[in-house]
Amino acid sequence: MFLKAKKSKIPIEPFFAEQLRQKPGMKVREPQIELALEIEDAIIRGKKFIGEAEVGTGKSFAYLIPVINEIIRTEKPGLISTGTIVLQDQLVKRDIPALSKYLNEFGYLDQDIVVYLGKGKEQYMCPQNLDKEIANAIEKELDFTEFIPLDAGLKLGKYDRSDFPDVGIDTWKKVCVMGCSGKCKERGCAYKLYKNQRSLKSYHILVCNHHYLLSCLKDPAFSISSFGTVIIDEAHNLESIAQSIYGISGNEQSFQSKLKQLIAMARSRGMYRKADANSILKYNKSFFRKIKEAALTRDEFEVEQRYKVDIDAKIQEMAQELFRKADRLCDQASIALEFSKSKSEQDKIDRIYDGIYRMLSKIIEYKDNNIFWVDVSRKNGAIQINAVPKNIDEILFRKLFSVNVPVILTSATMSTETSTEGFDYFASGIGIDLIPLPHYKDPVSKKSPYDFSKQAGIYIEQELQYVRKGEAGQALYMQKKADKIFDIIQVTNGKALVLFTSYTAMDTTYSLIAEKISQQMGIKCYKQGMGSRDRLLEEFSRDINACLFATGSFWEGIDVKGPALSCVIIDKLPFPVMDPVLEHKVEKMNISEQDIIRLDMIIKLKQGAGRLIRDETDTGVLAIMDSRASRRYSGLIMDNLPSFKVLKNINEIAPFIGGFKQVV
Ligand code: SF4
Repeated sequence: MFLKAKKSKIPIEPFFAEQLRQKPGMKVREPQIELALEIEDAIIRGKKFIGEAEVGTGKSFAYLIPVINEIIRTEKPGLISTGTIVLQDQLVKRDIPALSKYLNEFGYLDQDIVVYLGKGKEQYMCPQNLDKEIANAIEKELDFTEFIPLDAGLKLGKYDRSDFPDVGIDTWKKVCVMGCSGKCKERGCAYKLYKNQRSLKSYHILVCNHHYLLSCLKDPAFSISSFGTVIIDEAHNLESIAQSIYGISGNEQSFQSKLKQLIAMARSRGMYRKADANSILKYNKSFFRKIKEAALTRDEFEVEQRYKVDIDAKIQEMAQELFRKADRLCDQASIALEFSKSKSEQDKIDRIYDGIYRMLSKIIEYKDNNIFWVDVSRKNGAIQINAVPKNIDEILFRKLFSVNVPVILTSATMSTETSTEGFDYFASGIGIDLIPLPHYKDPVSKKSPYDFSKQAGIYIEQELQYVRKGEAGQALYMQKKADKIFDIIQVTNGKALVLFTSYTAMDTTYSLIAEKISQQMGIKCYKQGMGSRDRLLEEFSRDINACLFATGSFWEGIDVKGPALSCVIIDKLPFPVMDPVLEHKVEKMNISEQDIIRLDMIIKLKQGAGRLIRDETDTGVLAIMDSRASRRYSGLIMDNLPSFKVLKNINEIAPFIGGFKQVV
C-alpha cells in the first residue's frame, strides 16, 4: 500500500537528535541513533543483520524509521515479527501511532501509517461455533454457563482471545476459528474482515508474532519477498518457536479422544462394530506403551524432562497398523456423515485424520532427519511423543535468510561473553551463519544507557550448598532456601518477582513461605497459574508490595517499571537439562555439553535479570539463590550481567535500598 510522503526520506540523525528529542516523554539516546544508522545501512544494502540492543536503547524506534524509509522508497510494506504479545501491543498501540503522528507533524508524511496486526486464526472467536456449542448444550440439556461471557462479549463486538482472559483454554478451543473457508453467511465476523483485509494488503506495516510468521513461511502462497523489510524483534526466541512450528507431537489421551470422536460419528449410523472400536482404542494404548518402553531409561519419568526415543522396526510397524485402523475408521465416519451432509462434521474428520497422519507418518517414514523424544504432560501425566527436524537452521535459512529481502534480527539477549564468541551460538542455531558473507552485515551490540552500578545491586547466596540428590537433603535445602528468600522479601518489603526453573520448585517454595509473607508482612503473594498471565501481571504491578512467584515464560517479556518490581530473586541458575535436542546441537556444532548448557543458562539468566531495571529511574536488587554463582560460574556470570553493585550479604541490601532515594 502506497504511503503518502512529503519527503523522500527521513534523515536519521537530525530526526532523532533534533526533532524527536523535542517531544514530551521522548528519550533519544546515542546508541539508539547508532543502531538506527546500522539498520538503515543493512536495509539499503539488502543485507541480513543482527543488531543487539540492551534494555533502554529504544530499539523499536531505531528500526521503525529505517523501515518507514524503505516503505516510502519501495512502496512495499514492512513486516515486524515479535516474540511476545507485550511487544506486539506496544508497537501497535503505542510506538507506531506515536511515530506516525510525529512524522506527520514534522512534515515527512501526509497520512497515518496503517498497521495490520497478523494473528493466528485460533485467536479469533467464530460466532458460528459459539452458536453451535450453545445450541448443542441446550438440546442435550447440558450446562452452558461457560459460553455466557463469550456470547455477551460478542454482542459488544469482542472477538479476540485477549478480550476473554478469564475464559479457560478448553472452552476457547470449542469456539475459536478452526477450519474457516470464509464462505459462511455470518455477517460482521471479525475473522472474515481480517482475512479480507490481509488479502487486500491494505496496510503499511504488518506486525505479527514469530508463530504467525513461521506458519506463513510454511504456506506456499505466502511470499516474504512482497515485503520491503523484515524485522525480527525478540529474535532470541526464533529457534525454539521454529522447533515448535516445524515439529509435531501427539499423546495417548489426545489420540484416544480423537479416535473416540470418530467412533461416535461412525457408530451414529451403525457403520462401525463395537469390537472394532474396542480394538483400535486398545491398540492405541499398546502403541504408546511401546513408545514409553523404548524411551524409559529409569524407573519413572520426571515431568518437564525430555527422553530420547529410538524409532525401531517394531514401533514403525505398530504406527503403520494404528494408522491403517485409523484410516479405515475415518472412512467409516465419512460414509456415516454422507447421510447428514454436514460440511463442518466432514471438516472435523479431515482435521482429525490430518493430526493423526502427520504424527504417525513421521514414524512410519522414519529417516534420520528428525529428533524424537518423549515427555510427560504436567497437566494429566500423559505420555507425549514429539519430533522436530534436525535441520531447523537450514529450514530458516531456506525460507527466510536466502530470500532477497533485508532481514534485521534484534533483541537484548543474543550474544554471550563465553568461549563461543559473541553471536556465533545464536547465529548457528537459526542458520543465519549459512548466508554468504557479502549478504551479511557484521553484528553489533549496543549497550544500555542505564547506570546499573548505581541503580541496582546483586546479591549472590553463598552459604547454601546446592543439593542434587536425596529426598531428605533436597527437602532441607528447599526449606533453607525458602527461608532465605523470605528474609530478602522482608528487607525489600515485597515488590519481588521470584523466578524458578521448574514448577515443582515454584510450588514447593510458594507453599513454604507465601502464607508467612502474607501473615507477617501483610503482603500478597501471587503464583503463576492463579489467573491469566496478563491479569497476574496487572495485579502484581498495581499492588505495589506484592510478590509474584513464576517460572517458564515469566523469565522474559515482563516490563514492570517503578517500585512494584524492585527485586528479582532467581531460585537457581537456569541450566537446561540435557535433552535430545541439545545433544543434537552438541554434535552438530562440535562443542562440548558443558559449553552448550553454559550458553543456554547465560542467555536465560540475562533475560531473568533484565526484568529488574526497565528505565533510568528504576532501582532494585537481583538476588541469585545458588551458591554456584559465587564460585565456579562467578566469572561467567559477572562478565555477562550488567555491572550491578555487588552486595556481599543480606545486611547490605537494606542500606543499598535506602540509598535509592538519591538516585530517584
Ligand atoms: S466466517 Fe468463518 S470464522 Fe466467521 S463465523 Fe463463519 S465460519 Fe466462523
